[in-house]
Amino acid sequence: MTRITAPESIDWNRVRADFPLLQRQVHGKPLVYFDSANTGQKPASVIEAVDDHYRRHNANVSRAVHTLGSEATEAYESTRQRLAKHLNVASEELVLTSGTTFALNLVAYSYALPRLSAGDVVLLTRMEHHANIVPWQLACERTGATIRVAELHPDGSLDMDALHAAMTPEVKILGIAHVSNVLGTINPVAAICREARKRGIVTVVDGSQALPHMAVDIAAIGCDFYAFTGHKMCGPTGTGALWARRELLASMPPFLGGGEMIKEVRYDGTVFADPPHRFEAGTPNVAGHVGLGAAVAYLDALGMDAVSAREATLLAHLTEEMGKIDGLRIIGTAKEKAAVVSFLVEGAHAHDLATLLDLEGVAVRSGHHCAHPLMAFFGVPATCRASLAFYNTHDEIEAFAAALRKVRGLLG
Ligand code: PMP
Repeated sequence: MTRITAPESIDWNRVRADFPLLQRQVHGKPLVYFDSANTGQKPASVIEAVDDHYRRHNANVSRAVHTLGSEATEAYESTRQRLAKHLNVASEELVLTSGTTFALNLVAYSYALPRLSAGDVVLLTRMEHHANIVPWQLACERTGATIRVAELHPDGSLDMDALHAAMTPEVKILGIAHVSNVLGTINPVAAICREARKRGIVTVVDGSQALPHMAVDIAAIGCDFYAFTGHKMCGPTGTGALWARRELLASMPPFLGGGEMIKEVRYDGTVFADPPHRFEAGTPNVAGHVGLGAAVAYLDALGMDAVSAREATLLAHLTEEMGKIDGLRIIGTAKEKAAVVSFLVEGAHAHDLATLLDLEGVAVRSGHHCAHPLMAFFGVPATCRASLAFYNTHDEIEAFAAALRKVRGLLG
């Protein structure tokens, strides 16, 4: 549930001041944090929610009937409710996890493994993160199914004709990123899921990079599974969720066994709890998810449409500034893009660029970004990536461009 707020009615400098870490310096320079696709910074309200949980409410969830136990359980479950509203789904369909990686492995092991067999195909796109590739490879190895890859246009957008042509009767599952962590490309997942559904293909959307940037209505997307991570959307690390259609969750065996996920245990057999608790074995990251609830509340108060509009302005400015730098090549220029810009500078290694930028106070990520097949598609071993959030500023973009010019000069 997001609020509609005009971005110009928000004082973005005040918003930025909510993030304590952004006030710090690095190598004696004001920090320019352009690595939010890696992990996002946290507003004080999230930090305080985690602190308050440990100071005043810490207890295990679902086990204790004492006051603290009820408070902890209520706070943990209220995050599920908040997320459900934020994403327009039912809370019983949300399994809280340690993040996207766990969520996608849960789908691969509990849903896919018992269903896939030799001759079946798992369709992926060229822009998937390793977290949406490797679990499928593991499932395919055990079942004899194979992976097929839908290719991209040179600008980093999906080749929709190729994708539709790849949806043959052997395809049982389609795994697709909502937003690419390398290119920023926003995929038209609602239209893609509609085509997949017509062909009986189950859709698994990796929403890791979408939730930080835009309003996401999972019901409107019409997918079967939607995975995401909390730490990129202002929440603590080790948080996230898998949303799945109720009937699919109900048909899935547990992924991990242990406490919390059972109704009754005897040595001759166990009766499992209903979803979503069937998939939450053991003590969960209670404090982290309390923090994630505060993060969702923070984003809802800002309004995700305002966040998207703010970031579109920042992205336009960043792209313009980068376009003025000689020898700089942007990788990923699709029309529909989130504020994530991969780039290379002629004659400079991505790691050298990132190291020298760090000396200027600028944090960007360099490397393969957990997307080896995508690097291969562009014929590069690595890129630098500047990834923004609503808390970044136009001044930071200018500082980044100046730092890039200086570093480029140093590297000859
Ligand atoms: N998918 C994408 C697109 C990502 O960007 C990431 C995080 N880099 C992941 C999956 C994995 O998320 P996590 O490490 O939080 O499980």
